[in-house]
Amino acid sequence: MDLYEYQAKELFAAHGVPVLPGTVATTPQEAEEAARRMLAEGSSLLVIKAQVKTGGRGKAGGVKLARSVEEARARAEEILGMDIKGHTVRTVLVADGVDIAAELYFSVLLDRAERRYLAMCSREGGMDIETLAKERPEDLARVGVDPLVGITPQVAQQIVAAARIEPPQVAAQVAQVIERLWEVFTAEDATLVEVNPLVLTPDGRVLALDGKVSLDDNSAFRHPGHAAFKDTRDADPLETRAKEAGLNYVRLEGQVGVLGNGAGLVMSTLDVVAGAGESHGGMRPANFLDLGGGSSAEVMATGLEVVASDPQVRAILVNVFGGITSCDTVAEGIITAVRELEGFSKPVVVRLDGNNAELAHQMLAEAALPGVTVVETMDGAADVVTAIAEQQGA
Ligand code: GDP
Ligand code: MN
Repeated sequence: MDLYEYQAKELFAAHGVPVLPGTVATTPQEAEEAARRMLAEGSSLLVIKAQVKTGGRGKAGGVKLARSVEEARARAEEILGMDIKGHTVRTVLVADGVDIAAELYFSVLLDRAERRYLAMCSREGGMDIETLAKERPEDLARVGVDPLVGITPQVAQQIVAAARIEPPQVAAQVAQVIERLWEVFTAEDATLVEVNPLVLTPDGRVLALDGKVSLDDNSAFRHPGHAAFKDTRDADPLETRAKEAGLNYVRLEGQVGVLGNGAGLVMSTLDVVAGAGESHGGMRPANFLDLGGGSSAEVMATGLEVVASDPQVRAILVNVFGGITSCDTVAEGIITAVRELEGFSKPVVVRLDGNNAELAHQMLAEAALPGVTVVETMDGAADVVTAIAEQQGA
C-alpha cells in the first residue's frame, strides 16, 4: 500500500524524523480555517500541497506557497480538483513552509534483484532527481544495505560520505535523520521510504519536506494501525467487487482478460498470453484472476462478469484444468454468464482439460453460444484469444 505524503509524515514523526506540522483539508473552507489557526500560532509561511499518490506534484502546480489566510484559500481552491497524472486531488495538506538552503535526496528500498536493501542519497535533491539519476548517476550515491546489519550509525555515515554531504556537522545531522528513516522502514515494514527533498534550512535544521512510503501488505497483520491509512475512494472498483466475491483478482495493463483455477496455472497463462500477443499486435493480459479450487458455476459467472466489466478487455481466455473443479461445472458457469449477464458481449475463448472435460466440451457445443470458441490446447487458445483481441481493436 502506498501512502499519501501526510500519512508518510505521520509515520516519520512517530519515529523521530523531523517534519513540519500540517493539517489536511478537503475543501477551500477547511484549508482557510487551518491556515488561520496556523498563522495565529506564529507561522509566517504556509505551503499548500496536493495529496495524490504520484510524484511531480510540484511541477504540475500542485505545491504552492501562501502567506495569508486569503492566499491559502485561493491556492487550495486552485489545487483541489486538479488532475495530476490521472489522479484527482481531493485533499490538500496545509503545512508550515520554510526557507530552503539546500535540497537533498534520500531513499531506501527493497532491492529484490540483489536480495538486500538499497539506500540512495544525493546532495542535489528536489524536483529534478530523475534527470540527475539519468544524466549524472555518479552524483546519486547508491549504497547496498545488508539486511542482517541494517543502517547502523556507521552505515549511515558511509551513505552521507558516498553522497559527499558537507560540511561534517551537516553530514552528521543528515546521518542521524537517515538512521531514523531506517527505523521507519523496518519498524513499519515498508518496502520504500523516500524523502525528496530532505532540506537544510538557513538556520541549520534538517527537515523531511516530502515523504513517500510504501508498506508491505503482507505484514499488515502486524500493524493494525495501518488499516486507517487505507483509502477506499482510491481502490480499484473491480478489485473491490472481486474481493467481495472472494476472488483473487489483480488488474494489469493489457487487453486480454484471463480466468483460470490455481495461481500457478493462471500465472503461466499470463506468460503464454503475453508470448502469443507478441505475434498479435502486442496484446497482453489485462488481469490475473484465480477462481480457486472447487469453484462453483456461480463463482465462474461472477469471475467472467468482473473481468468483462474492465473496459480495457477486448477478449477473454478461460483456462481451466479440472481437478477438484470439474470442467462441466466450469462450462455451466460460462453458459450461465454469457446467457444471463446483461450486455455480456465480449468474445470468450475456452480451454478446458482434465476432470469431465469431454462432458464440458459437449455442453458448450450444444449451447452454441455466440462469441464463444473452444480451443483444445493452452498455446492454441492463447494464440486465438490474442488474435481476436487484436482484431477487436482494429
Ligand atoms: P513533489 O513535486 O510531488 O515531489 O512535491 P514536493 O513535496 O517535493 O514539493 C515540490 C517542491 O516544492 C520542493 O522540491 C520544494 O522546492 C518546494 N517546496 C515544498 N515545500 C516547501 C516549503 O515549505 N518552502 C519552500 N520554499 N518550498 C517548498
Ligand atoms: Mn518530492
